[in-house]
Amino acid sequence: MVKMDLLKVVRVTSGYGTLTVLNQVSCEVADKSLVAIVGSNGAGKTTLLNTISGILHPYSGKIYFKGKEINGMPPHEIARLGISHVPEGRRIFPNLSVLENLKMGAYLARENMKNGMLKKVFEMFPILKERKNQPARTLSGGEAQMLAIARGLMRGPSLLMLDEPSLGLAPKVVASVYETIEAIKKNGVSILLVEQNVRYALEIADKAYVLENGKIVMQGRGRDLLKNKNIKKHYLSLK
Ligand code: ATP
Repeated sequence: MVKMDLLKVVRVTSGYGTLTVLNQVSCEVADKSLVAIVGSNGAGKTTLLNTISGILHPYSGKIYFKGKEINGMPPHEIARLGISHVPEGRRIFPNLSVLENLKMGAYLARENMKNGMLKKVFEMFPILKERKNQPARTLSGGEAQMLAIARGLMRGPSLLMLDEPSLGLAPKVVASVYETIEAIKKNGVSILLVEQNVRYALEIADKAYVLENGKIVMQGRGRDLLKNKNIKKHYLSLK
């Protein structure tokens, strides 16, 4: 069965003022799938997520979410339609408790805590339940990343966009963050992941795109790209 495209980016060109970063980028996220955009430093991965979430408006091209054109909409409206963006660097509030950070995620969605999201999130992240009254600054790097992801889930999105969830984490911790990402997908949330950590991202991606200098240069199933000669050489340091 062919899955419906939840998100469709069509020939998007975007950037900052006169600096064009993305050049005619097209990509899709099928419903209930996990899509990875991989590429090295400065390729334009963050710019792509910022353009989808409305922080940047594309110079040209279209972005559709659930069939509706969203390019040009303000970020809060895009968020309300069901896209949650977990930015690079986590941006949690260090002096607020874990619970307060989570409530901020729901508050912004207005739906608040009524739909039992907090209970679901605590089931998925037991460590956050244990630490719910601690200031967020006392969490380890991995726990802080879990909190940022959990906060993104509080509004019950259909699409969760994750910017470099493995950044600055030890390999063992990255593995557990990635297990959580897979569990979120199993719960029916589609995921768009951008990563420099190509190996992890390709291992779990139903579909992946390689972004180089603002252009998509390759696409395919994650596991197929892992076997690709050019990927091995340029991104996995293998001969
Ligand atoms: P990284 O993993 O290093 O964040 P990336 O693939 O996410 O890389 P982007 O952050 O999208 O890359 O950056 C792409 C280009 O856009 C870079 O050349 C960067 O210097 C530039 N850029 C990023 N943010 C801004 C900004 N706010 N103003 C101007 N240029 C920017």
